[in-house]
Amino acid sequence: MRCPGCDRGLKGQKTTLEQPYQYVESGLAHVFLVGVTLYTCQCGEELVEIPKVEQLDGVIAKALIQKIDPLSGAEVRFLRKYAELPAKDFAKILGISPEHLSRVENKKVQRTGATYVLGAAADKLTRVIAHKASQGESIKEVLLMLAKTSEKKASRKTVRLLFEKRPRSSQWKSAE
Ligand SMILES: [Zn+2]
Repeated sequence: MRCPGCDRGLKGQKTTLEQPYQYVESGLAHVFLVGVTLYTCQCGEELVEIPKVEQLDGVIAKALIQKIDPLSGAEVRFLRKYAELPAKDFAKILGISPEHLSRVENKKVQRTGATYVLGAAADKLTRVIAHKASQGESIKEVLLMLAKTSEKKASRKTVRLLFEKRPRSSQWKSAE
């Protein structure tokens, strides 16, 4: 691997639990990866090699679908893109205006100081749609799981999500 900036030869290093890679490409600030190869150059250039992105995004989607707290705007956007739905269509499905969806996804602040969020029903529908795209467990299981999460108390804290791909494994897994 050569640096695209200065053409120096680059040596890669796998990211660790102690120093995971922040998966900025996902649009989620709280998702970190263990076991990806990171190439850093003296000139400041940084390259990352993320294998099996599709499977990784599926594991992330699953973690978001199962989270107890309401989805953040960035998480809504991630799940919408994961389901491959344009914003305009997605807003229609949720029964909200495209403007409102955009305010939610972009974390716009209301006059009250609170950020725009989806209502509880739209939040759950987003998860069901994303789940359908992932073709995981039966939809009934997901709905029952969502019923359970609404009994639990939301913490409203942004929890870091950590995912790991071990060298001998071909699959991404949650590292929590
Ligand atoms: Zn360089």
